[in-house]
Amino acid sequence: MKAVYDQAHWQRHPSTELDGGQLVTPYESPQRAEYVKTSVTEAAIVDWLPPKDFGLAPITRVHDPDYIDFLASCWQQWQDTGKPGEAIPAVWPARRMQQVVPQDIDGKLGYYSFAAETSISGGTWEAAYASSQVALTAAEVVLGGESAFGLCRPPGHHAAYDYYGGYCFINNAAVCAQYFRDKGDAKVAILDIDFHHGNGTQDIFYQRDDVHFFSLHGDPALVFPHFTGYENERGAGAGEGANRNWVYGPGTPFSQWQHGLSEALRLIEQGGFDRLIISLGVDTFEHDPISFFKLTSEDYLKVGEVIAQASLPTLFLLEGGYAVDAIGVNVANVLKGFKQALKNE
Ligand SMILES: [Zn+2]
Repeated sequence: MKAVYDQAHWQRHPSTELDGGQLVTPYESPQRAEYVKTSVTEAAIVDWLPPKDFGLAPITRVHDPDYIDFLASCWQQWQDTGKPGEAIPAVWPARRMQQVVPQDIDGKLGYYSFAAETSISGGTWEAAYASSQVALTAAEVVLGGESAFGLCRPPGHHAAYDYYGGYCFINNAAVCAQYFRDKGDAKVAILDIDFHHGNGTQDIFYQRDDVHFFSLHGDPALVFPHFTGYENERGAGAGEGANRNWVYGPGTPFSQWQHGLSEALRLIEQGGFDRLIISLGVDTFEHDPISFFKLTSEDYLKVGEVIAQASLPTLFLLEGGYAVDAIGVNVANVLKGFKQALKNE
């Protein structure tokens, strides 16, 4: 299996996250990616490839070009105002307000975001762009029929068509699904196993039937992103039925969570898809500091095995996972289980 990494992720290194009424050291840290790189390398399951540059075009296929311009220029605009801290939104267009883009940076931050935990700092755009190119480089391998892993940081699945949040700026999985479509695939499946609902991915494909979205996550009535991810969200228009959510409550172990995983895989096996993208978050881990499922490191081997049942060229893209000392082993175990199951076929 091929894997792609870019040290440019280090450029995203903010010092603040709004959490519990305080500015804390961000959970989404550069060390996360380094632990994954080390563990996946030690497991000897991948050959590392350097990233290629596919430019902005594949990104603006799924994101509003004005939003991308905002991301690229936000830090400069914020600094121009002389504000002392990192860029954090503090006001949003709520119900019955106008959905228009303000001219000042505080207004723009609110318009182009949905949450305030994610500070924008210098280098954020550069790292987000690099992360999307890591994903696309891995996607190009998968286009050739092999499976691959993109070690993406920052993650992507909370980024919607025109807003960021939840540590995500560019939706790497969505960019790659569209890339597969543009390269000739008729139908692509995205399976999101991160602890949190992949609201951005759902948003981008909600009315389409060529990219189906399957997500298992913590009950949004209890946990981020709160306003999306319910099981009655099944797609709309042409996309009616092409979106599926499975929600679970606090303390959910693998034995329970795997029912949703198996059901998703059954739908994927029967769905006539050309390729599969896995939004690979391991914040489902029992000791994750911001989540409430109880998967163990051993369980991730089985997760990889079950995913292999789809027998599709599969693109794994890193999403969340914040128990940094275990994130590497857990990601490596998914890839190991997947690879082993393919070998046994
Ligand atoms: Zn997550």
